Amino acid sequence: MARMQGAVIKGGQRQVELREFDVPEPGPGQVLLRMKAAGMCGSDLHNIYRTMNLDDPGHYLGCIAGHEPCGTVEAVGPDCRRFEVGDRVVVYHICGCGHCTPCRKGWVVNCTSEQRNVYGWHRDGAYADYMLTEDYTLLSLPDELSFVDGAIISCGFGTSFQGVRRADVSGYDTVLVVGLGPVGLAAAIISKARGARVIGVDISADRVATAEKHGCDLGLVADDKTLDRIREYTNGHGVEVSLECSASQPGRMLALESARLWGRVVLLGEHGRLDFNPSFTIIQKQLTVHGSWMSGISEMEDTIEHIVRWGLRPEDIVTHTFPLEQVSEAFELSDKGEAGKVVFTWN
Ligand SMILES: [Zn+2]
Ligand SMILES: [Zn+2]
Repeated sequence: MARMQGAVIKGGQRQVELREFDVPEPGPGQVLLRMKAAGMCGSDLHNIYRTMNLDDPGHYLGCIAGHEPCGTVEAVGPDCRRFEVGDRVVVYHICGCGHCTPCRKGWVVNCTSEQRNVYGWHRDGAYADYMLTEDYTLLSLPDELSFVDGAIISCGFGTSFQGVRRADVSGYDTVLVVGLGPVGLAAAIISKARGARVIGVDISADRVATAEKHGCDLGLVADDKTLDRIREYTNGHGVEVSLECSASQPGRMLALESARLWGRVVLLGEHGRLDFNPSFTIIQKQLTVHGSWMSGISEMEDTIEHIVRWGLRPEDIVTHTFPLEQVSEAFELSDKGEAGKVVFTWN
C-alpha cells in the first residue's frame, strides 16, 4: 500500500505534526486527488491551532487538516463519470447529505443533516499528498487559473465573492471594506472588478498599503477620524455598500455608521459581539443588513467563471508559499500575524 505525508493539528496547543498515512482508495462516487496547492485559512489558526472549543459541535476532529485544496485527479471510483485522471479541479470544501433542502439547492454549507462534514475538520483534508473527495464537491479548474488560484477560491475568495454578490455591487457604488485580511482584500479586489470605487480600512498600515497596491482608491489606517474621512470622501453621504470583514465591534460599527441612507451592509467576519442602538444605526437610515456565510456550489462555479472573465488572479494576494514539510514553520509565522495569505504547494 502506498504511503503519504499528512499534517494533523494538535488543537489548542499551537502544534502541527506531519504523520504517515496510507494513500486512500476511491470508492463509489469518490475521486482521489493529487494535491498541488492548499491554502491556509484564518479558521485553521483561530479555531484549531490557537484554541479549540470542544463544546462546539462542529469542532475539529483531529483528521488531516486543510480545507482549501486544489489538485489533479489521480484516480476515480468505479461509477465516476464526471472526471478523468489528470483533470485539474477545485474543491468545494463541505460534504452534505445530498437530500435536505439546502443540499438540493447546492448550499451544502447549510446542510441540516448530521452527515454534514468539512474536509480538514471532520474528514481528511488538504494538507497531504493525496486527498479523498466526493465527486459532487469538485469543480473544473480552468486553464487560465493556477493551482494556487484554485486553492484560494475554495474558501476565501468564494466567501468574498458571495458577500460582494449579496450587496449587488456595481459601478454605481462606493464600497467600504472593513478589515483587509485575505477575505477583505479579496472583497476589495472583486468590488473593484465590478466597477465600484473602493475604500479599504484596517488597523494595520501594511494591510492598507497592500490594498492600495491592489487598486483600493482610498486606504485608511483606522483611528478616531476614520468615519469623518469616509464621509468627507463621499461628500457627506456615506457609502452605498459596506463589507464587514474585521469581526471586531469597532469595525462592525464603522461599517454600519459609514453606510448612507438606504445603504447595504454585509457582515462576513464571524464571532465576537455587536452592541448598539439599532434606531439610529439601522432603522432610521433604512439600511439593508445581510449576513453572508461562504457560498453555494453553483455560486462557486459562477465565481470561477467571473474571475477568469475579469482577468483576476487570486494568487496575487499570497504572501508566503511553503512545502508541506514546513507546515510547522508556516503556522508559527501566521500565528505571529506576520503573514497575509499562506499556501502550501507541491511540485
Ligand atoms: Zn476557510
Ligand atoms: Zn444536506
